Parts: sequence; structure tokens; C-alpha cells
Amino acid sequence: MDTLERFAEAKLAALSEQQLRRTLHETAPCGPVRVKRNGRPLISFCSNDYLNLSQHPAVKRAAVEATERWGAGAGSSRLVTGNHPLFAELERRLARLKGTDDACVFGSGYLANLGIVPTLVGAGDLIVADELSHACLRAGAALSRSHVEIFRHNDLDHVEDLLATHRASHERALLLTDGVFSMDGDLAPVAALAEIAAAHDTWLMTDDAHGSACGGAKTEVPLQMGTLSKAVGSYGGYLCASQAVIDLIRTRARPFIYSTGLPPGVVAAGIAALDLIANDPGLVAAPLRKAAFFCARLNLPAPESCIVPILLGEPERALAASRLLEDEGFLVTAIRPPTVPEGTARLRLTFSAGHDDADIEWLADIVRERILDHDER
Ligand SMILES: *Cc1c(COP(=O)(O)O)cnc(C)c1O
Repeated sequence: MDTLERFAEAKLAALSEQQLRRTLHETAPCGPVRVKRNGRPLISFCSNDYLNLSQHPAVKRAAVEATERWGAGAGSSRLVTGNHPLFAELERRLARLKGTDDACVFGSGYLANLGIVPTLVGAGDLIVADELSHACLRAGAALSRSHVEIFRHNDLDHVEDLLATHRASHERALLLTDGVFSMDGDLAPVAALAEIAAAHDTWLMTDDAHGSACGGAKTEVPLQMGTLSKAVGSYGGYLCASQAVIDLIRTRARPFIYSTGLPPGVVAAGIAALDLIANDPGLVAAPLRKAAFFCARLNLPAPESCIVPILLGEPERALAASRLLEDEGFLVTAIRPPTVPEGTARLRLTFSAGHDDADIEWLADIVRERILDHDER
């Protein structure tokens, strides 16, 4: 066996041993919240398509019509092939939603963060980031070669301390946080972070991938990043910011320059979804109501977002709970390290507008009686 095969197999064996190997399972979507796996229908509580817009007839029609009219792919980078007219429309709407001068759309949220962070800071600069920030914010920080300091989750005193200690010895500084934390569902104290950042001449950037459908200009946040891949039901990432910042991103962010533009159908789907969101304020509120209904039934604290974690500790326990729920007809994926810290493997439930209350009750009862109570005995 050559060294490459040996390396890969040894690495996989070690991961399997720790219950940390990941594998793909063929799962076909069937409508807003249902999927089919191994020939069995399941109700999914693990999609980030919170408003079920990926399945909305108007969104699908927009994708099909744009594909018929303009083709399946974009051909090249937007700077090379020319900017498709759909992008101007999408970026205008995003800027309006977030109350900024302009917006720049990237291939995905992950690519957006890899592009934005190194465009704004580099060697000799400082990044201060929440310990639970998304993997792609951390990857963007590493790529920038800035000095990185990590603060305890949502700990404002720690942010203040780190900036007081390190800010003066660096030229520029960026403060990074998720808006809604993707694995815990709690919110960052954005207004307070903005105040601390301003006091230390530090630029605040929020990754609001899980809050992207929510409008409401956060004027105190100069760098509002998000994704079209979750509540918006399509695909792509974006930054909303001032004109000068967006112009700089378009000329310097490498994943924008050196990667192909999104396909027309994907952009058109994003525009159609943003239209639906703008015209139906009640829709955006629905997922949190569903999550609150679930938490009330389990006597859990009221959720801050439609993401509800159930911490179980070791990976095996989370995997067993996920298998049990699958046997009962629910798809709820186990989340394990390194996605979450050691000892905090969990079920991560996401609630969407399309979930039936009866299904939520049934799920809550199984979680209470067969996953939580079971372990306390
Ligand atoms: C999902 C997610 C991303 C990545 O967005 P994609 O468009 O899926 O690449 C970035 N940040 C956070 C917080 C996320 O949850």
C-alpha cells in the first residue's frame, strides 16, 4: 500500500474509533419538511431552510425561468464575463434589507468570510473573535495572517480586556462574531459589542447566516455578512456595507475575483425569496414560534432563535439519540466535535415555518421520555 492510502486509512480508523467519522447518507427531499431516507419518510428537524422557501413555487419558478432564459452556469468570474443584470438587482435588495449603501454577493457564505476578512486586515493587525464563531470566520482570520485573540462566548468584559491589552500595538482591528450562533441558537449582544468596538477604533463584523431573512438595519454594525443559503432558501453569501468597503471588496476579495459567479437560476431564486420575505412579515416570525412551542413542552428556557440544541455530552450519546429519533420517523442529526467543543455533542434541532404543531409535540414527548429522562435514571 502506498503512503497516501496508508495515511488516509489510518486517519479514518482513528476517527471511527472516537465516533467522529462523518459519512453521507442519501436523503431525498419531499416537500418543505419531509425527506426520504432508506426508503422511509422522515420529518426533518435539521434543515436551515427555516422559511421553507427552497420549496416555494414562486422561488422554484424563478430559478427555472432564469435558467431557461440565461443558461445553467455563469461562465466565469463576474469581473471577467461581465456582471449579470440579476446581481445588481439582488445586491440592491440586500442593501435595502440591511440599510447599507451597497452589498456584494459571493459564491457562498464560507467564501464570503474567506474573502472579506483578509481584504480588511492582515499581518500587523488584530482580530478579536468569539470562541463559538463559525468555522469560516476562523478560517478567514487564519488566512489574513492577523494576530488573533479569542474571547469567551458573549463575554463583553473579556472583549474589553483583550482590546485594552492588544489594540494599541496593532494598526487595524476587527471584532468578529456570529449574530445567531449556529450550534447553540443564542444571540450575540450586538449593540454592546458595537459600543466597545467603536470605543477602541475596531471594526465590528457580524456573521448573520442564521438571521439573514430578518431585516431591520443594524446601523451600528459596519460589516454585516450573511448567506442566501439558509432562510432565503437559495445559495450564496453576501456582505452589506458602505460604498467604499463594497468597492474595495469587489476589487480585492480573492474568492470574489478568482471564483465563478453564481448561476443565474440561483440568483433569481434569491431575489424571488427576498420578495416573498418582504411581502409577508408574519413568515419570518413563524420559525421562532415553533421553537418556543417545542421548548415550552420540554420546560426548556425560551429559545432566542429557531435553533434549539439538546446537549448530550459524548458523541456516542448524541449518535444514539439521533438513531432513536430516526426509528421514530424524525431526522435530527447529531453534532459532534470539532463542530462543537469536546464534551458538548448534541442534537441540534431547527424549526421551520412548515412544521406541524402535532409533529413538534410528538417529537418533544419522545425527547423527554426516551432521551432526557432515560439518562437520569
Ligand atoms: C452556514 C454558515 C455559514 C456558511 O454559509 P454557506 O452559505 O452555507 O457557505 C457561515 N456562517 C455561519 C454562522 C453559518 O451558520
